[in-house]
Amino acid sequence: MNQQTHAWIALRATALLEDAGENPQLVRLLSTYAKDAAVGAWLPDLKSAKLGRSDVDNHIFKMKPLPPDDPQASRFIANRQALTKRLGPARLVSQYLKQPEQLPEAWWATPYKAEAKPGQHIPNCVMGLRLTLTDLLLMGDSQLQILIPGEVEFVRKLHAEARTPGQQAALYFFMISHFVADACMPCHCDARKLASYAAGLHQKLEEHWGDTVGKYYKDTKLPQCADSPDQILKKARETGDGFDLAFKNSVPKIPQGRDAWLEMVDVCRGSFALACIMVPFKAGEPATKCKFDDVFGGAAGKQLLADVDRIAMHDAVLNTAIVWKEVWNDFVELEKRQE
Ligand SMILES: [Zn+2]
Repeated sequence: MNQQTHAWIALRATALLEDAGENPQLVRLLSTYAKDAAVGAWLPDLKSAKLGRSDVDNHIFKMKPLPPDDPQASRFIANRQALTKRLGPARLVSQYLKQPEQLPEAWWATPYKAEAKPGQHIPNCVMGLRLTLTDLLLMGDSQLQILIPGEVEFVRKLHAEARTPGQQAALYFFMISHFVADACMPCHCDARKLASYAAGLHQKLEEHWGDTVGKYYKDTKLPQCADSPDQILKKARETGDGFDLAFKNSVPKIPQGRDAWLEMVDVCRGSFALACIMVPFKAGEPATKCKFDDVFGGAAGKQLLADVDRIAMHDAVLNTAIVWKEVWNDFVELEKRQE
């Protein structure tokens, strides 16, 4: 996804949290620095910030079949029922994959495993920042502590300059949104050559999303614009209409016994399934190029593109809000314990 798409996803997730009405202080923190989303949500893809080796395909969890005789094969099978149950009803990808006609049973019976170089592994990137952010919030400066639920007693012992300003905390929230959004990009989760950025489909799909989102979110425009936080969030809601998005205005909790890492692994598996609906899996898979128009041409292709747009964009926004809320709920729980 390009810079403007990442920025919009972070802002739409902020608006979703506001509409869900559950974490007003978190919404206040994020919306105060809404303009920073243009940089923060894009920062992990900037050349000097990343461990990736190229301009593209930096944050990936690309899956491919394991040989059936691999001793770990059974661990890497997630059948339709199991995966859609873990993903839950709120994610559109789950609703879509529940339809038995979308993927043959043989696809679901195959073990798939992802490989990613250090620094590229999406669930690791999400989990690393998610834990870092809890610590940054714990050490928040006096202004930030006003927003954070619960009392953090040791924070006064820290040097004032060692404490986290609100703007920095907001920046880290926006950075997490980048990795979460990348997990929702089907081509980032598909090891086939045809899903690489250079093969065609991947690049065109990201350009299509960027064009739909529009230039308002560009890092050369948004930070300088005169709009208020409320106006920016209103605009982010309207931009979602371009993808025909309808949000339920609630953000589910990560179930007990699970964490952001496990959620992201399953989200990536769902994205890989979506990639295999876009371009069906063939044994041997010789294709190295894949044209956007071959996948999304004709009436059926148009419908498929509308579905992929809706699923990827809706779930990128929702998953971002889910992970943000989980970070914040550490402090909501702290407050409950202190009551
Ligand atoms: Zn990325």
